[in-house]
Amino acid sequence: MTSLRIENANIIDPERGTIAPGTIQIRAGKLTAVDETEVDATVDAGGAYAAPGFIDMHTHVFSHPLFSTNRLEADRIGVRQGVTAVVDAGSSGAGTIDAFPQFVHDTQSTKVFAFVNIGSPGIPGIQGGHASRPELCDLPGVVRAIERHDWIVGVKVLASSSHTGSFGLEAVKLARKAAEVTGKPLMLHIGNAPPIIDDVLALLRPGDIVTHTFHGKVGGILGFKNRVIEPFRDAVERGVFVDVGHGRSSFSFRVCQEALAQGIPVHSISSDLHQGNVDRYAVSLARTMTKLRALGMSLLETVQAVTSTPARILDLDGFGSLTVGSNGHISLFEEVDDPLDVEDAEGNKLTAPQRIATTGVVIDGIYHPRTATL
Ligand SMILES: [Zn+2]
Repeated sequence: MTSLRIENANIIDPERGTIAPGTIQIRAGKLTAVDETEVDATVDAGGAYAAPGFIDMHTHVFSHPLFSTNRLEADRIGVRQGVTAVVDAGSSGAGTIDAFPQFVHDTQSTKVFAFVNIGSPGIPGIQGGHASRPELCDLPGVVRAIERHDWIVGVKVLASSSHTGSFGLEAVKLARKAAEVTGKPLMLHIGNAPPIIDDVLALLRPGDIVTHTFHGKVGGILGFKNRVIEPFRDAVERGVFVDVGHGRSSFSFRVCQEALAQGIPVHSISSDLHQGNVDRYAVSLARTMTKLRALGMSLLETVQAVTSTPARILDLDGFGSLTVGSNGHISLFEEVDDPLDVEDAEGNKLTAPQRIATTGVVIDGIYHPRTATL
């Protein structure tokens, strides 16, 4: 394995909370202390920011030829967009996830993890919803899948009418049980009722994750007079994590702005990228970060939400850190003073004063310049 030095970087350490000029050195795929020894390659960052490799915690990259509807190749939104790791959020379930290594890990350079769906077919699955009936939710199958595959980081359930319908609450209970048995977090997708958000939030435990948190549909986290509903505030206070999951119809500037103003934190910024939103709406993780910056998150908070925090939520050893011995995946990016008109998933516009532009990534000690648009 090669060695690499990144010079002239503005290093953001999300764990220490520091931003300072410096050099990063990687040897045999691990971060090492900077020394005077020869290295195989040097990258001049040209003053760009360098942070632990970005992690997009909600994407759809299970590009199996038989189940390819709506899914992207991981490298298109990973390495090529300056992101080192993506997490597939339930595209496959117990009945399909064994095909993941063949069609994802073996063909892509981006590091890929997955939530296994409580619905056996995965998304989009079958008519009526992929987890809308008891026989579609294979609790023992999910547990055995997690036993077989160490890259499965949690269980996913989509608690909304289009995916689980009136069976939604039961599907969430089964998914929560699978998470409990395996000691993994549950990622809960919220959307249109049924089920009602209050009922599903009550089932979440510390360490679980709500995604599509800031969707603008009726019955979301904002209630009467735009106040954050108590069941959601209670969930956050007892240690449930808040994920963005931008998507095609699941991010509203209005809802996010209101929630931030009422003290709701954003723990992780994720794109929910799939074929239906990669050309418009979500576009890239960098674009999603630009939107959260425009809504008031600091640069450090924004970087933490795609590095150290998702690594901690998902227990990804060696990720999201710049300590010596970490895995040496690095994202390089600039914050460009070039106003950009951005839109949420409802088509509402906002002018971001600056935009985040990744310039490249280091994965396993190899530098890859960004090649895809952001
Ligand atoms: Zn999704």
